[in-house]
Amino acid sequence: MQLHNTLTGQKESFVPQHPDRVTMYVCGPTVYSYAHIGNYRPPVVFDTLARVLRRRFGRVDYARNITDIDDKINAAAAKEGVDIRAITDRYAAAYHEDLASLGVEPTTYEPRVTEHLPQIISMIERLIASNHAYAAEGHVLFHTLSYAGYGALSKRDEQSLMAGTRVEVAPYKKHAGDFVLWKPSSADQPGWDSPWGRGRPGWHIECSAMSEAVLGETIDIHGGGHDLIFPHHENEIAQSTCAHGGAVYARFWLHNGFVNVNHEKMSKSLGNVLLVRQLLETLPGEVIRLVLLTGHYRQPLDWTDDVAADARKKLDRVYGALRDLGDIEPAAGVTAPQGFIDALEDDLNTPMALAELFELVRAANKAESADEKARLKAQLLDAGSLLGLLQQSPQDWFSAATSESELSAERIEQLIADRAAARKAKNFSESDRIRNELAEQGVLIEDGAQGTRWRRT
Ligand SMILES: [Zn+2]
Repeated sequence: MQLHNTLTGQKESFVPQHPDRVTMYVCGPTVYSYAHIGNYRPPVVFDTLARVLRRRFGRVDYARNITDIDDKINAAAAKEGVDIRAITDRYAAAYHEDLASLGVEPTTYEPRVTEHLPQIISMIERLIASNHAYAAEGHVLFHTLSYAGYGALSKRDEQSLMAGTRVEVAPYKKHAGDFVLWKPSSADQPGWDSPWGRGRPGWHIECSAMSEAVLGETIDIHGGGHDLIFPHHENEIAQSTCAHGGAVYARFWLHNGFVNVNHEKMSKSLGNVLLVRQLLETLPGEVIRLVLLTGHYRQPLDWTDDVAADARKKLDRVYGALRDLGDIEPAAGVTAPQGFIDALEDDLNTPMALAELFELVRAANKAESADEKARLKAQLLDAGSLLGLLQQSPQDWFSAATSESELSAERIEQLIADRAAARKAKNFSESDRIRNELAEQGVLIEDGAQGTRWRRT
């Protein structure tokens, strides 16, 4: 298996440190509002990777955190006049609902910052004891000059690190590049007792402390969005490596690209922020998931209505093939073809894997013998499960995958039955009229040996 490692800038052969167990940590959401389509690319990408790793190595211990201490959460709670817990519970629940709609399986661990204050404080104490951090005016800061490897992940040297932080250096900092591990809370802000007074952790330390708590000192894979490479992941490496006496923190660093909308970066000011909640009102979750897997995970992805419509048609084709295979039992012990597995094991090449999947669809549509059909059905279903797709029956897909402006599957079946009756009665003008009515509504029908099939165009 090959994975691209941001640390070396190269694809490398991946073997877990324990032969039958992979450890993976992915940075999760800060829960203070509904998440947009870009926020769901990492959970979908790494859910797919976890499925592939589990197939190959047997067990994946996968942690994705929930950030439930953050100044944006504090601001949202203050605005509503509620406890931060009311905000974080609401948006964590919404996140889980959206993930379920996208076919993302629950992770092995989902650590929350509010449940790991002792571990965070312990790690900060160790960093102070080993002279990698210092307390000043109620803050604790990591001293970046104390760690020679700082900048290795993001390929930044001391000068460019300085350039980014030159403005408004806080007086308690020894060095402009030093970052906060702990900061004081005022009486009206949420805070926790610590050796440095009542306060709250900085963002970066939580992932180092929680990864250590649930997965151990050295993990196989650390993932997240490309925008987290600097400073977040650079700081995680500095904290964990220094707290662990130099032990490697994460062996492989994987980063997914941005999601743009209609060729533009999503931003509140452009008013083009696409919430998955809103998309799910008109699109099945599998369509959104397929769009997110259509491009290679490292490349930027452009969300447009056309891309979504195309993904929907593709799923119609696959479910259509499965529907035509009817009640044929999938062949026992048959798994996805090797070419499909090879594509996914080549740095999660989902575009190539999807091309292999559509080859199976073409073969299934041409298959004649029962054995061939049974084999192809098993291959299709197994390939689908590795991608987290094809997780419902064709019947459910065709009746649910209907937006309000379209004919329901039930109505289409009724019209097809009406047309068959008209043809039987040799009323060909009526049967043609029904065929045309369906065509106008974007439904194409084909008469074949097994009766009339339909699909949306
Ligand atoms: Zn993180």
